[in-house]
Parts: sequence; C-alpha cells; structure tokens
Amino acid sequence: MGRGTAGESPAATEYESGALMSDELLPFDEVVERFDPVLGLEVHVELSTASKMWCGCPTDFGGEPNSHVCPVCLGLPGSLPVLNRKAVESAIRIGLSLNCEIAKWCRFARKNYFYPDMPKDYQVSQYDEPLCFDGGIAVEVGGVTYQVPIERVHMEEDAGKLTHVGGVGRISGADYSLLDYNRAGVPLMEVVTKTIHGTGAAAPEVASGYLAFLRDMVRALGVSEARMERGNLRCDVNVSLSPKGSDVLGIRSETKNVNSLKAVTDAVRYEMQRQGAILTAGGRVKQETRHWNEGGYTTPGRSKETAEDYRYFPEPDLVPVAPDPAWVEELRTTRPEHPAVRRARLAAEWGFTPREFGDILASEGALDLIAETVDAGCSPASARKWWLTELARRANETGVTLPELPITPREVAEVQALVETGSLNDSLARQVIAGVLAGEGSPAAVVQLHGLAVTSDAGALQAAIAAAIADNPEIAAKVRSGKPAAAGALIGAVMRTLHGQADAAKVRELVLAQLSES
Ligand code: ZN
Ligand code: MN
Repeated sequence: MGRGTAGESPAATEYESGALMSDELLPFDEVVERFDPVLGLEVHVELSTASKMWCGCPTDFGGEPNSHVCPVCLGLPGSLPVLNRKAVESAIRIGLSLNCEIAKWCRFARKNYFYPDMPKDYQVSQYDEPLCFDGGIAVEVGGVTYQVPIERVHMEEDAGKLTHVGGVGRISGADYSLLDYNRAGVPLMEVVTKTIHGTGAAAPEVASGYLAFLRDMVRALGVSEARMERGNLRCDVNVSLSPKGSDVLGIRSETKNVNSLKAVTDAVRYEMQRQGAILTAGGRVKQETRHWNEGGYTTPGRSKETAEDYRYFPEPDLVPVAPDPAWVEELRTTRPEHPAVRRARLAAEWGFTPREFGDILASEGALDLIAETVDAGCSPASARKWWLTELARRANETGVTLPELPITPREVAEVQALVETGSLNDSLARQVIAGVLAGEGSPAAVVQLHGLAVTSDAGALQAAIAAAIADNPEIAAKVRSGKPAAAGALIGAVMRTLHGQADAAKVRELVLAQLSES
C-alpha cells in the first residue's frame, strides 16, 4: 500500500508511529530547509508549599509511603477540600512573572479519569477558567530573542506515585502495583504555552531555554525547588512541522515527562527529524503521546485523549477563586527582579567577558553564590575564582552541587579578605577553605586552630632569607649578575623553611632587596 499522498482517502493512509533508527531520521539541516517547526510546551511545576493543595498534610519529599495522607487527599467519601491560600499566591506570582492577566474570578474543574494514582477518580484542576492567562516572555538563544507566548497558568493537584512490580515497570504486564499517596494533592501549577513559531533551527534550544527560564524564575520566586531530577518540574513537549513558509499546522506529537534540559533539546530535535522523515516519504504523522527514552528517541504512548474524554465539569466542593485586586497589585509590585534581567545587570556590573560570565551560568547555583559573596565585600573576580576553581573542584570531588557545600558566601568573602590583608597566601587560603568545609568553624577559627596565618615576624622572614642565600651561593651569584628569574629557587627555599606561611610576592621582593644590598 502506498504511503498517504494527496488524493488518497484517509482510510488508505498509513500513520507512522514507531521509533526510527538514527539512519532513518531526516538529517536536521534538511528538516529546517523543508519545514518550519512549531512547538508547544506544557510544564507542571510542583510548588514547595508546606502543606498540600486541599488539606494540611505535609508536602515533604520522601517519607514512609502513605505517611503524609488524610481522608481529604485519600479521597475518602464525605471529606471536603479547603484551598491552600499560599498555593494561589504562588500561582499568581508565577502568572505575573510570565506577564499574564490574572482572572478576577475563576473556578476549579473536575478532570475525570479512572486510574489508581488519583484515589478520587478525578483530578481537581482548572479547565476553561484558568487563574492566569495571555502572557508571554522572551527567550534568548545565541544572541537572538524568541517570543514564547503563554496561554495559561492553572492550578491543580499532583497524583500519587505508582510502582509497577514485575514486567517492564509499566502497568501492562506488571504482576502488581504499589501505591504511595504522599504526593497526592501536592499543589501543581501547569504552565502552557501557545504555539511557538519562527524558531527554525533553534527550536531545540528555544525549548530548553524556555524551560531553564521557567526553572530559574520559580526558584527566584521561591515557589518551587524546581529540581527536575525529583520531578518538581516536568515538561511535555509538543512538536509539529509545517511545510516551509506555510501557515498550515502539521499534526503534532506530545512527548510526555521530559525531565532534563538536555532531554528537552534532544526530544525536540528527534521529533523534528522523525516527523521530517515521515513527511518527506509521503507518510502522515500520528497524533499521539510519546515516551522519551534515555537512549535518545521517542516511542509511541497512548493515542491522545481529547478534552471530552475527561468530562470536565465545575468542581462543586470548592468555592470560586476571586483574588482581591489589591492583593494582586501587591504581589505585582513585590515580585523579585526577573532572573534574566538580573543576569544582564550583574554581567554589566561585574564586567566579565561573555565567556567568563557564561562559565558562571553553566555551573549550578554559582550565580547566586557569587552574587552573595560580592555582597559580602569580595571583588567579583575573586568571588568567581573561588567558586569556579577551588570550590567547584571540592564539590566535584564529593559529588555535590556548589550550594550544597558546607561553606557560606560570607565565609568565602572572609577568606578573600584575609588574602587581601596579607594574612593568608593562596595556598594557605585553600587550607583554610578545607578546614571550613571539614566543619572546623569559621575561617578565623580555622586560621587560629592550625596557626595558618602568613608569618608577621619580620625577623624570622629575614633570617630565613639570609639562610637561603647562604645555602645557595651559586644561585645568589646568578641573581646578582642580573638574572632575577633565578631567584625562584631561593624563594622556594624560604617558603619551605616557613612551611608555606609566607607571602611569596613579599619574599621575592625581600630576596631581591637583600641581594642588591650585599
Ligand atoms: Zn491530606
Ligand atoms: Mn496537568
């Protein structure tokens, strides 16, 4: 049977769905030559409120299975939900930061589905009346700015966690399934973009750039930890291809739960190349949800439900939400500086090259730590040096992120201040940092404990220099005869005598001075 071409009836059309091997994909350059990619991104953000959306149960990650539950989040008959004000506040703040309108009045809706991760058999969500709508932000990729229009931000609740035992970890073929409702009822915000056009070859990076923007934004707002590896931020990636220059939207696929920035980039690229191969061969893309596989490809999931399948209707157990306009205004005026704006400001203030600044952005948590270190009195260059070299190395060695290191920006600034007053040289400063990381106390306490300060005993310093000169007459003669570079060996000898507790530059100065006098 021929592949679907113009003139054939739909019944005669083959819909392509399986994963393609890399040699079956259309090369990326060809995809962007022939097609315009259109993106749509749906991101679920798990809020870090203390309690759940409708009850007082804690939202803490981990914990014994089914230990953070009550009649409300277990959906027991007769229990009634009460809306978490903090969750509404977080949602409004997210909406404002995405330049959305805030609804004067909106309702919750029941999204009905029969699956054991939601014990009520419906999820309380929002349907045609979202709290925030019609916003948009700009994402910069490679110096070009792309507009990402926002359709809506709505409030809903998370589902419980199912563990399928036996088989391949999916429900089909499993022997039995374990249910943990600790996550059921945790507040979720769903941020949905409108279709994103005009990204061309940058589509994969625009998608991950948008997700990074959202992640940084909710962290700056303090509304979510946004740890993708814990599922605090989960992205569904919609991709379709239109023929180059055409306004006609292609059929999209929706790849679910793509949970890292790299996976989002890769999933968009893969779907563009897969759909490009199908369309170029005259086939048709099937509208469906797909799974992202760590091997770097997508496989078919279920055929996409439509809204009708969920039988949405207004939630009768909750009153409508009508945020006080004065409260919304207050939240608008007190929202933090946007991370992208802040980044641009700090880049200008600190005066790094784009590359130096890029290294800071590439290292998780480094920007905030460096900013706080600068606020504590350190120069930007020194703050950057400590966090991106010595501390990055320590973090790497112990397998933690920079923010997880047991040293504060204030302590780093303190170490640098000791370097600048000449109390510590670089190698002593590194030993002090090691002591702080080992839990020995503040930098001053570590200096005291190990007697790490550079020697301030001028007599001892002069004596060590005199001894080094006396022990190395040939080197001393070389320096005297106009070869100051030879002084390195003398400086090394002095540093050894003083167990490294001297300022090498100062020693050099004194060595040269003594040799020119004699
Ligand atoms: Zn509960
Ligand atoms: Mn949702």
